[in-house]
Amino acid sequence: MKKQNETNSTVNNGPDFTAIEQRLAKLQNGRRFQHTLGVTYTACALAMRYGCDLTQARTAGLLHDCAKHLSGIELRETATRRHISVTQFEREHTPLLHAKVGAYLARVDYGITDLSILEAIRWHTTGKPDMTLLEKIVFTADYIEPNRDRAPHLTELRELAFRDLDRCVCEILRDTRNYLARNPKAMDPMTLDALAYYESHTDSTAEEEE
Ligand code: FE
Ligand code: FE
Repeated sequence: MKKQNETNSTVNNGPDFTAIEQRLAKLQNGRRFQHTLGVTYTACALAMRYGCDLTQARTAGLLHDCAKHLSGIELRETATRRHISVTQFEREHTPLLHAKVGAYLARVDYGITDLSILEAIRWHTTGKPDMTLLEKIVFTADYIEPNRDRAPHLTELRELAFRDLDRCVCEILRDTRNYLARNPKAMDPMTLDALAYYESHTDSTAEEEE
């Protein structure tokens, strides 16, 4: 890393993006790497819109799935070896661990020391109550980036993301809850906590899709 932690500064050059991209391109298959790039530029666009530090958004977007290529066994082993705390839910749903292990790898393998970036990676899958701007940007970019095509309401969510980020986060959490309601055992309790928070903190008079 050349320079670090110049939060809210546009002169923060950040890590060696080319080196990180090359490394991820080798680890991730084509589809996943395209998703990685999609999240990166979508996070950058949202950062421009909402005045978030671009380098932080770019770094977090690029590295958000840096542990996703690991198998369930590898994720569990890394967590155990590195003393990363694992919830009962994560033990039963190992793929979710890629967020926590990803935050760890971003620090030790990619040299990212900015805690706000590591936290944005940590929470990108489930979300959580009262996220920082950077956390909301990465969470949203992961869901709406241009390679995504299966989730409902993507057109509306993509427009909403640039108009009202909190409402967009709320809608994504609601869609996720509705999707997982078919299989309640797959629902991370943190997603429900996040949804409850954003439902009570966003404008309830706003129009909904359903
Ligand atoms: Fe992910
Ligand atoms: Fe992702």
